[in-house]
Amino acid sequence: IFDPQDVAGDEKELRAPICCILGHVDAGKTKLLDCIRGTNVQGREAGGITQQIGATYLPAENIRDRTSLKAETAIKVPGLLVIDTPGHESFSKMRSRGLSMCDIAVVVVDITKGLEKQTVESLHLLRCHNVSFIVALNKVDRLYGWKECTNAPIVEALKKQSDDVKSEYKWRLTKVVTEFKENGFNTAPYYENNKKKKVVNIVPTSAESGEGVPDLLLLLVRWLPDIITDKLAYDDTIECTVLEVNEHKDLGTTVDVVLINGVLRQGDQVIVCTKQGAYKHHKEVRAAQGVKIVARGLQYAMAGTSLIVVKPGDDLRQAEAAAMQEIDMAISTTDENEKGTTTQEVSSIMTCKEGIYVQASSVGTLEAIIAHLKSSSVDIPVYDWNLGPVYKQDVMKASAMLKRKEEYAVILAFDVKVMPEASALAAESGLKIITADTVYRLVNIYTEHIKGLKEAKKMQFAAEAVFPCTLKILPNRIYHSKDPIVCDVEVVEGVVKVGTPICVFTPSKDKSKNTIVHSLGRISSMQTSNGNQIFSARNGVVAIKISGDSPQEKSRSYGRHFDSSNELVSEISRRSIDILKECFRVKTLTMPPRF
Ligand code: GDP
Repeated sequence: IFDPQDVAGDEKELRAPICCILGHVDAGKTKLLDCIRGTNVQGREAGGITQQIGATYLPAENIRDRTSLKAETAIKVPGLLVIDTPGHESFSKMRSRGLSMCDIAVVVVDITKGLEKQTVESLHLLRCHNVSFIVALNKVDRLYGWKECTNAPIVEALKKQSDDVKSEYKWRLTKVVTEFKENGFNTAPYYENNKKKKVVNIVPTSAESGEGVPDLLLLLVRWLPDIITDKLAYDDTIECTVLEVNEHKDLGTTVDVVLINGVLRQGDQVIVCTKQGAYKHHKEVRAAQGVKIVARGLQYAMAGTSLIVVKPGDDLRQAEAAAMQEIDMAISTTDENEKGTTTQEVSSIMTCKEGIYVQASSVGTLEAIIAHLKSSSVDIPVYDWNLGPVYKQDVMKASAMLKRKEEYAVILAFDVKVMPEASALAAESGLKIITADTVYRLVNIYTEHIKGLKEAKKMQFAAEAVFPCTLKILPNRIYHSKDPIVCDVEVVEGVVKVGTPICVFTPSKDKSKNTIVHSLGRISSMQTSNGNQIFSARNGVVAIKISGDSPQEKSRSYGRHFDSSNELVSEISRRSIDILKECFRVKTLTMPPRF
């Protein structure tokens, strides 16, 4: 299934390539990862596979066992490290940090569906970050009449299929190749691809029954190292990225790191970036490719940044300064080619005085959430952010909004644990913590929460809300001139409601004042011209009854204090304006002319 002549005889010591899996939701990323791990096959020995953290390490020998590779054919890399990218949309949005540590990506495409929205998004990201990829054209077993050949190389499996299956496979493959072409990529099935460096390889796979998976693994450990030999050259300089900050039941806070190059040794002194400052430790660190580190103060470590190892004789301060520089880089590293987010935008969200608090598991996911919050369809400001589990300190910080702007008194927590004492404090203070497994759901829950808050406020203030209206008294249609005043009016502007306090403006004899305001009382009932009781009217002629509350209001009378040349208007206080603005704002709200 693989041409050994493709492999050049270079003897450099190489490290394991790092690979991530991207694609549209439901294309089969998770299932394919299970298949690569061998966890889909019952009774299979794990064969040295270690699934340590957010990554799976497959030793070369395990891959050899699972493929038809002859014993004498060398695999030059010690193994393959596959990053367990979360299956949800957020990873497809993850930018520089997540992708930059990968040497190659596997883009999973469902053969029955072709390229979908998130596939195209993934391609865009890969192009932006100059990351090579292989296409896993998945779910070939769904082709009608497919004969299962468990874990077989794909060419072998294809040979065993009927002509109908073969022809369906061919036209679906051609369709996908065309779709890639439309997106600017030349692709070809890898077994026919003579220009592997220039033309993207397609590997037909079934994550269900394993056909094509050996081919995919071989491409990753045999072909890839020849293409990127220099990049994979083993180097003593430690390159290490913090993948996740976790709370462990027995160990306390731990950080999961991807060791890209070098060796980490137990007892190494390490520095991690934190929002609070750089911390150094003399605790235990075990060497491996994906490593869990246990140390004091790690709860402040930031995912997506480097872990720096300090060797004897190194200048500690310099190392700390280098670590801290990364924080700014991590937050401001955005891709200018990528639409929607620029460094400027990210920085402005960070410094907002009024906004919500965002907590995420890594810089990549944080960036994805912030980009979504900033998008025009959502447009929610961010007050502050943090990475890793939600602690009491986060709740305390986010609670600043309870006094400033209640609707922003929220922590959006994505893919992180909320510590029990943080939940308790939030419940006590009235701060809302929202968790969800996709960015979109997280934001949807937040917008629903805001709607709920607004409705509750509306109910609470409905009685106090006075809607602006201007009414023209119809001459000769005064039925009762003094408390209660009963007359026909025409609604000139706004909306008139039962309960609205009414006043009238009359010219003042005192030249220093323009008008005098006479409060008349509230509208106690309202009728249409055919005698129907109504509660509100926006236009036309209605009969209103105004009942005075205070003795002064009761003393006002038509003919003496006002007449049909004066307009009646709703009497609006500052407070009712505030309530209207806050709870009942509509675009066409017009205020009475005199206000
Ligand atoms: P993800 O969202 O990309 O991680 O997709 P999943 O791995 O969760 O797969 C989505 C669905 O497709 C699940 O029901 C899988 O069992 C199914 N699936 C994935 N790969 C294959 C495949 O190769 N063949 C078949 N028949 N089903 C598959």
